[in-house]
Amino acid sequence: MRDVDVCVVGAGPVGGTLACLLAQSGVRTAIIDRAALAPMEHPAFDGRAYAIAAGSRTVMQQAGVWDRLPSAPGPIREIRVSDGKLGRRASRLFLHFDTRDVDAEAFGWMVEARSLRVALNALMHDLPELQVHAPATAQVTRSEDGAEIALADGEVFKARLVVAADGRGSALRAEAGIRTTSLPYDQVGIVCTIAHNLPHDGVALEHFLPAGPFALLPMAGTSDEPNLSAIVWTERTEMAAHLMRMDDARFAAELVRRLGSYLGAVRIVGQRFSYPLSALLVHRYTAPRLALIGDAAHGIHPIAGQGLNLGFRDIAALAGLVGDAVAAGQDPGGADLLRRYQAARRPDNMAMLAATDGLDRLFSNDNPLVRLARDIGIAAVHRVGPLKRAFMRQAMGASE
Ligand SMILES: Cc1cc2nc3c(=O)[nH]c(=O)nc-3n(C[C@H](O)[C@H](O)[C@H](O)COP(=O)(O)OP(=O)(O)OC[C@H]3O[C@@H](n4cnc5c(N)ncnc54)[C@H](O)[C@@H]3O)c2cc1C
Repeated sequence: MRDVDVCVVGAGPVGGTLACLLAQSGVRTAIIDRAALAPMEHPAFDGRAYAIAAGSRTVMQQAGVWDRLPSAPGPIREIRVSDGKLGRRASRLFLHFDTRDVDAEAFGWMVEARSLRVALNALMHDLPELQVHAPATAQVTRSEDGAEIALADGEVFKARLVVAADGRGSALRAEAGIRTTSLPYDQVGIVCTIAHNLPHDGVALEHFLPAGPFALLPMAGTSDEPNLSAIVWTERTEMAAHLMRMDDARFAAELVRRLGSYLGAVRIVGQRFSYPLSALLVHRYTAPRLALIGDAAHGIHPIAGQGLNLGFRDIAALAGLVGDAVAAGQDPGGADLLRRYQAARRPDNMAMLAATDGLDRLFSNDNPLVRLARDIGIAAVHRVGPLKRAFMRQAMGASE
């Protein structure tokens, strides 16, 4: 077993992409996941589709993942935001963002979790600088000088830096005694794919309803299903359980009540998934020889589809620092490097946590005064051209 510069624990989308990026740039890397990787490619494993921002696409390209995606990413060319109740009293006020107004190719690209998984699995096994251990459990012992990783099969190796990419419930974070604050939302995100008769034309829809946001995201079609979209539907916990128990036909009818009829007839494709929602604030991102990234470092409301994008920004920051240190023959897990990583990432992640939390509280609310205030806000943004363009650049900048 070779010693490595970096050992990444957790081969989810964030850990997997970081490991590929590091290995591509010549950093000796190991990745460990407690789960087997091949079953993660099964459609029943994860129904999410990610809205990937421009900056995240660059990270995926540098890691070599983007070109291996088995199905084409679907570009988001327009975003329509509306606020209102269901039925006739629905507010007609909406914000309309169009890439033509900011001369950009797309606001982002829809990539299925499964597609990313297929690409990562293939790439991880192709990189000579990357050792892959999955399924495997590891005992990680960190000291000021380095870390020792003992796999359950008796193999032992050393690393200069350990990266915790082991998700929301990170065991490495807990072992390091890093405190967290969790913010429950009493909301559940229901995720599924729909096929529809009429084309979406690259338009994403965010409809703010009193129980939470309802989003439709345009996906690339297939030869069998030319018109496909991803749904992220936030509901109160009890109602979500009720919706999840419905058969597909009743569920589709409820969905059309929220969506309207502009896509024609709608059919549910594949399985429905539900994810309880909460925000997670992690008090520190580092401990000696340890850096936290992705959902191990932060958890946010999916209202703006930014969780994975934050993880990709963590990857860019950490891979940059580690790559430079290794190229210069310096320590890639030293205290100064870890300090710089935390300084680079924590403010951005905390700002996004605060913004998504505020948006959810502002919009998942049926108080008439709050409604009036936000409708005036939406109308003002819509009318004032420079303000609207600033919003769009911010949305895309948030992605860079
Ligand atoms: C409804 C919903 C919709 C979303 N939509 C979007 C979106 O449109 N855009 C976006 O950017 N983000 C979105 N997100 C957020 C995004 O899904 C997450 O941020 C992302 O999946 C986090 O990836 P990760 O690799 O950090 O963690 P995870 O995906 O949780 O991966 C963790 C990995 O670590 C492994 N692991 C765990 N414990 C151990 C251990 N002890 N030892 C070894 N391995 C371990 C696990 O097996 C797993 O493979 C959404 C989230 C939800 C809930």
